[in-house]
Amino acid sequence: MTEVQLQEFKLDPDSELRFEVESKNEKVVLEVKSGYAELFGTELVKGKAYEFHTGAKVAVFTWHGCTVELRGRTEVSYVAKETPMVIYLNVHAALEQQRVAAEQEGTRGPVTMVVGPGDVGKSTLVRILLNYAVRMGRRPIYVDLDVGQGSISVPGTIGALLVERPASIEEGFSQQAPLVYHFGHKSPNDNLQLYNTIVSRLAEVITERIDSNKKASTSGVIINTCGWVKGPGYKVLTHAAQAFEVDVILVLDNERLYNELKRDMPKFVKVVYLPKSGGVVERTGGQRAEGRDARVREYFYGKRTPYYPHSFDVKFSDLNIYKVGAPSLPDSCMPLGMRASDALTRLVAVAPSPALAHRLLAVSFAAGPEDHVLHSNLAGFLCVTAVDTERQTMTVLSPQPRPLPNTVLLLSEMQYMDNH
Ligand code: ATP
Repeated sequence: MTEVQLQEFKLDPDSELRFEVESKNEKVVLEVKSGYAELFGTELVKGKAYEFHTGAKVAVFTWHGCTVELRGRTEVSYVAKETPMVIYLNVHAALEQQRVAAEQEGTRGPVTMVVGPGDVGKSTLVRILLNYAVRMGRRPIYVDLDVGQGSISVPGTIGALLVERPASIEEGFSQQAPLVYHFGHKSPNDNLQLYNTIVSRLAEVITERIDSNKKASTSGVIINTCGWVKGPGYKVLTHAAQAFEVDVILVLDNERLYNELKRDMPKFVKVVYLPKSGGVVERTGGQRAEGRDARVREYFYGKRTPYYPHSFDVKFSDLNIYKVGAPSLPDSCMPLGMRASDALTRLVAVAPSPALAHRLLAVSFAAGPEDHVLHSNLAGFLCVTAVDTERQTMTVLSPQPRPLPNTVLLLSEMQYMDNH
C-alpha cells in the first residue's frame, strides 16, 4: 500500500525510522526538523533535504531523539524501537580500544571481517563501523570482497578504499583512487582459484600500503564479504581471513557459521556473534540484478553528481582483449608440470566479435599479457555498446576520452545496456 505524501515522525532516543522507496521513478525527500539523527553512521544535517530514489531501503537512527519529515511516496515507513545499534556501538568501542593500543604500542590496528549469509546487513554494518571510526578521526581501510553486491567500483571486482570522511548520505563513500582487481563474475564460485588469487593479492598490497601510512595502519581494516557461507563459500571466507590476517570476525545472524569459525580459526582471532537488524530488507534475484545494473550506471553516469562519459569507436586491431580462465581439463590431459587448476588463472586472448556487445571490459594497468596481469590493479572500465564487424570496429563507453591506453583489457561477464 502506498502511503501519504507528507509524513512527520517523532523518534524517541534509540529508535529508528525505516522506509523504502519502491515505485518506479519515485523520489522521497528526507529532512531532520529537530534533534539529531544519523543514517547508517553518517550524521544528518538539520534542515537539509536528502533525496532517495527507487530501490532505497533506509533507516534513520537517533541516539537522542528527533523529529523527521518525509516528502514523497514511500512503500513502507515505520518507527522501530528495537534495533541492534547499541550492540554495534559497543563493537565500535572495542575496535577503538584496539586502535588506541595500536597507537601506543606502534602496532597495527584491528583487521575486522564481517561475514554472514545474504541480506543480514553486512554492508550496512561495515558502513556504520567505518563511519564511526572516521568520525573519531581515524582513517580506516575499507575492503569489499563482495563481487556481486559490493560498493567499491562495479560488480565483478574486489577493491579497497582509504576512508577519509563519512559516507555521503546519497552517494556512499567517496570513490577517489580505489584499488580494484578484476574477477569478472558475480559469484566467487564461478572461479574459486582466481577469486582466492586476487584476494591474496589485494591483502598483500594493503599490507604494503599500511606499512607506509601510520594513520591508516593504526586505524585498521574493515572487510565486507559475500553472503555465500556454505561449502566452498566457507573455504573462501577462511582463505580471506588468513590472507588479511584478521583479528576480529563479526558473524551476523548465523550460529552455524559462528560455531564453524570458532572451531577453525586460530585462538587469537576473536569471533563475535551479532544479531541482525529487523530492518534489513531481503532482496529478490531481480532486485539484486537491478542493484548490479545501477552500480554500473553510477560508474559511468554518476549518482547525485552527474558524470559525462565519452563514446567513441576503436579498431579491432587496437584492442588487446583477454579473459581469465581457460576451459578446465583433467590433470591427466594437462601438459607436464601443469595442473588443471592453473588453467583457471591463465589468460586467453579473445577476438573482438558481436558476442562482446554490452559487456564490460576492465582496463588493466598491465602493459601486456606477460606483465603479471592478475597482480595488476585496474585503471577503470569500458562498456562495449556496439560492434561493427564490417568496419572492424567497436563503440565503447569510457569515463576517459580517447585514445585508449595501450594496455590489457579484461573481459567481464557483466553486461550493461546503455540506454542513457
Ligand atoms: P548482501 O549479502 O546481499 O551484500 P548484506 O548482508 O550486505 O547483503 P545489506 O546490503 O547491508 O545486506 O542490507 C540489505 C538492505 O537492507 C539494504 O538495502 C540496506 O539499505 C537495507 N537495510 C539495512 N539495515 C536496515 C535497517 N535497519 N532498516 C531498513 N533498511 C535497512
